[in-house]
Amino acid sequence: MAILDGRKVSKEILLNLAKDVNRMHLDHISPKLAVILVGKDPASLSYIRQKQKACDTTGIEWEQFDYETDVSTEDLIEKIEELNEDNTIHGILVQLPLPKQVFEPDVIRAIDPKKDVDGFTAYNIGKMFLSTDFEDLAPCTPRGAIKMLEYYDIDIKGKEAVVVGHSNIVGKPLSTMLLNRDATVTTCHIHTKDLASHTLRADILCVAVGKPNLITADMVKDGAVVVDIGVNRLESGKLCGDVDFENVEKKASYVSPVPGGAGPMTVACLMENVVIAAKRIHKYKS
Ligand code: NAP
Repeated sequence: MAILDGRKVSKEILLNLAKDVNRMHLDHISPKLAVILVGKDPASLSYIRQKQKACDTTGIEWEQFDYETDVSTEDLIEKIEELNEDNTIHGILVQLPLPKQVFEPDVIRAIDPKKDVDGFTAYNIGKMFLSTDFEDLAPCTPRGAIKMLEYYDIDIKGKEAVVVGHSNIVGKPLSTMLLNRDATVTTCHIHTKDLASHTLRADILCVAVGKPNLITADMVKDGAVVVDIGVNRLESGKLCGDVDFENVEKKASYVSPVPGGAGPMTVACLMENVVIAAKRIHKYKS
């Protein structure tokens, strides 16, 4: 069994991006990410820190706008519209989740698709359905999972790919991206009957649910590639994924660990999206 080492792959991506950003700086273009954070949820703060650190590594500028948890949908939309018009900003990220009184779809919809570096707007999601050529601002977590497979030369074409989880930000776009690469894709969710009958067929098994030990070794085919996207904090404070790593690693050909797999890849792909957005906005060729 080998590890899909998201930490190592993401470091390489960030170092290459830093060179790219440096070249852009020489041409007086400074890629910049605007981040909207509502409240002080510990998980959100931790994700924000990781993203800020990646900005420091790559040379991408960072500006953060903090709001109290009683913020309204209108207040957030007003800020987003201001950022849409600001020529110094190339990427807008709204850290999710938002408080209950905020209507998240309206907030996401307000982001100019050109600056939608999370790839959550209907425009960018819709484009992604066309083919790999249109995945330019694709959602970062699915893109990170695909990049990890590509880095390790794992063939996707013609493979049985099973995605567990069908959220709009991970499961559905990941299924689409696997289909764009000619896998035969099955998407499972809470209403799937006999989950194991599907996962056992998977050459590539991607899990994005948020339930520790949902996928046990008896649900995994010998030699399968397993990408664990779930992030769960146990009572002990330890982080784990959705896959019983200790036992699954004995059966799989590759497994991504949590932490150190999909998480850092997500952050690296976010940085990549900021650079892509900045290049497109400035019609910068390199
Ligand atoms: P989500 O919106 O809660 O979606 C979870 C999905 O799992 C839903 O489609 C849900 O179905 C399905 N599900 C729930 N219980 C299931 C079960 N027993 N069997 C099969 N499917 C089941 O979560 P998300 O945003 O997609 O995130 C999923 C996980 O990935 C979370 O742990 C999250 O923290 C993690 N994540 C990690 C990163 C990263 O950077 N590493 C980024 C994003 C998310 P229903 O909707 O029908 O209930």
